[in-house]
Amino acid sequence: MEYQHEPVLLNEVIEYLEPHSGRLYIDCTVGGGGHAAALLQASEGAKVIGIDKDMDAISHVRQELAGYGERFQAIHGDYKDLKALLARNRVLEKPSGLLYDLGVSSWQLDEPERGFSYHEEARLDMRMNQSQGLSAYEIVNNWSQQELSRIMYEYGEERWAKRIAKFICQQREEKPIATTLDLVDVIKRAIPSGARATGPHPARRTFQAIRIAVNGELDNLEEALKEGVDVLETGGRIAVISFHSLEDRIVKKTFRYLQKDCVCPPGFPECVCDKEQKVQVITRKPVTASAAELKVNHRARSAKLRVAERV
Ligand code: SAH
Repeated sequence: MEYQHEPVLLNEVIEYLEPHSGRLYIDCTVGGGGHAAALLQASEGAKVIGIDKDMDAISHVRQELAGYGERFQAIHGDYKDLKALLARNRVLEKPSGLLYDLGVSSWQLDEPERGFSYHEEARLDMRMNQSQGLSAYEIVNNWSQQELSRIMYEYGEERWAKRIAKFICQQREEKPIATTLDLVDVIKRAIPSGARATGPHPARRTFQAIRIAVNGELDNLEEALKEGVDVLETGGRIAVISFHSLEDRIVKKTFRYLQKDCVCPPGFPECVCDKEQKVQVITRKPVTASAAELKVNHRARSAKLRVAERV
């Protein structure tokens, strides 16, 4: 299948990372390689490493960007293990820029058998890393009603979380909820018809929540960003694009923490914390997509870019 993914906030990312010849940039979520290709094109001599935990994405991007020769390298792995991945691949050079374009790619969503889409029949899966054990099937069929309700409420901001969780548990007593469309049916039954007559697809929030839980999308983000900042060279920049408020909140708080040079409680006569300022935040407010981009790229709707510079 053709790998279709329109990179979000592309010009803005290039503007903030400002690739230079001879320098290294790491795209920690390389996906279809849209941002990576733009970084490679923006400066003739810049080098890019692309990381992704989806092996299909890595195989594809390796072919897609083969024309850049040694300037591009693709590494299969999780960005939470950035230091270890770089060490294992003998990358000694400190990167001048890091990019995290969080979440799921359009291609993952559009490939029916991955089970991310509520429009296509498929086994409930939603794993970005296909070698991982936990899948959506496991969560939907084995997690407790309380846990299901919690993730739908927290990760999906679904106001009908409790009712959907109850309906899921009733349904699976009869037989397992095996496919995406089986789950959509249960969700539709749980949400009163008046409440789902308008607005986005009724399964959208639940599918988002389950996807976040399957892939542990929020679990390691703070640690991962701190590790990223640790490997950046002085003056290098870290750019993060998030797609929902929970993610953006973690990015904002982590950058703010890394910017502080003291975390002693207020009123302490002198500083005893030894905290050092690691970054300067460059984007006071998150950068969002222009009206022109919103017209052509649906995925840009909720995108927020934050950038910080290593000091
Ligand atoms: N910027 C890319 C699209 C990225 S979509 C482009 O222009 O094509 C997000 C990608 O991040 C997906 O391919 C997903 O598999 C990957 N991903 C999500 N979480 C990850 C993690 N923890 N480690 C590595 N890759 C991750």
